[in-house]
Amino acid sequence: MALMTGDEYIESIKALGLEANLMGAKTGTLPDHPLVEPSIRAVAATYDSAQRKEAASLFRVKSSLSGEEINRFTHLHQSTDDLVNKVKMQRYLGNVTSCCFQRCVGLDAANAVYSVTYECDEKHGTKYHQRFRDYWSRAQTEDLVVDGAMTDPKGDRGKRPKDQADPDLFVRVVERKSDGVIVRGAKLHQTGMLNSHEMIVMPTINMREGEEDWAICFAIPTNTKGIRYIYGRQASDTRKLEGPKLDVGNPIFGGQEVMTIFEDLFVPDERIFLCGEVDYSGLLVERFAGYHRQSYGGCKVGVGDVLIGAAALIARMNGVEKASHIRDKIVEMIHLNETMFACGIACSSMGHETMAGNYEINMLLANVCKLNVTRFPYELARLATDIAGGLLGTLPSAKDLEDPVAGPYIKKYLAAADGVETVDRMKVLRLIENLVAGAGSVAYLIESMHGAGPPTAQRIMIGRQADLEGKINLVKSILE
Ligand code: SF4
Ligand code: FE
Repeated sequence: MALMTGDEYIESIKALGLEANLMGAKTGTLPDHPLVEPSIRAVAATYDSAQRKEAASLFRVKSSLSGEEINRFTHLHQSTDDLVNKVKMQRYLGNVTSCCFQRCVGLDAANAVYSVTYECDEKHGTKYHQRFRDYWSRAQTEDLVVDGAMTDPKGDRGKRPKDQADPDLFVRVVERKSDGVIVRGAKLHQTGMLNSHEMIVMPTINMREGEEDWAICFAIPTNTKGIRYIYGRQASDTRKLEGPKLDVGNPIFGGQEVMTIFEDLFVPDERIFLCGEVDYSGLLVERFAGYHRQSYGGCKVGVGDVLIGAAALIARMNGVEKASHIRDKIVEMIHLNETMFACGIACSSMGHETMAGNYEINMLLANVCKLNVTRFPYELARLATDIAGGLLGTLPSAKDLEDPVAGPYIKKYLAAADGVETVDRMKVLRLIENLVAGAGSVAYLIESMHGAGPPTAQRIMIGRQADLEGKINLVKSILE
């Protein structure tokens, strides 16, 4: 069963019996809840795309562990071409779904854990790498969705984990047993967690001596006893409960984030990939973040393509597509979008082999990629809002469009260019609204800022990686 279909995947998630707290109530078995359903459809697109002939070369790849054909979302990158194809695949899916398709975090976590466990074993004589290979072979063979969980609540940002008023504000080992550990804590902002079969939990910062209990990395099934999920709200989310799809903006797909709580969870030895080796915690954070900063050069660009298309289409519907200032704004949007893509491709092409044999991105360029992503989607959203016009914020509801009294007025007074149906104009406006101010803006804007670390984190890495002394020496050698 190396490659599941989207429907098989959805059935496999239903079988897990996951539940969450959502707006003061229990969801019942997911993913049937109408708020959650669009998000599982987006993940299903990662499976269905692998079944499409035109996308097969992006999605199907030979496993380095088993030699079998697997989905690229579980692949350990074997070349810079693999890294490039990952970004292209993400752009493709951004085009298909216009939202976060949630499956990249586990891919990025796996590639980071694979190389870090190898290096940790070399230094400390631990046995983590083979364990992880065994674990990940199953994820590949069974075509699983694995969430990568990194962000701890962190409490008082000025204090180390052990100095917090509540030590659980960073995920930690509270008890060591003969065959495993007991873990307590929480992970925030967990993209797609409820659509995942498994999760890989990683430390959130570089741990220091004395912080061994917080230097823990492990994998567990999402339906393990002792895990609680609390669903994150998104702007305009309850439109998904109202009935008509028009007001939702993106009628089929959506993203999802949850708070994940570990209530004294038992993790058996065979699922532990780091436990107390503080000197490898920072490297794991850095590598995972690096891969995820590369990812945004694909997925956000794919969604950007949709936003550019929607801006161009609404301009056409409004009868202004030939106006020079509109054309100029569309070109600006394209330029910004392709600049992010160029960074995603560049950090992939300039990647290198790790000691473990998988490929890592160029860290400097991956951070440049993500720093651009913290800015450019906001500018794309501003330009789309400018082109769309004020109706973006004042459009009547779908139910009023269907109303026998209000409906005819809406059709009459929201008519635009010849041949354009008012309802079609409303659909395009709602899609733009979804991305710039609605549920889709969680992934397109807020996540572009904070996902894989906020801009300051990228600036620190850029400062570290850029070899400033080397540049100063260039000046000296020119002037001598
Ligand atoms: Fe993948 Fe992008 Fe969603 Fe992150 S934001 S999981 S990279 S689609
Ligand atoms: Fe993300």
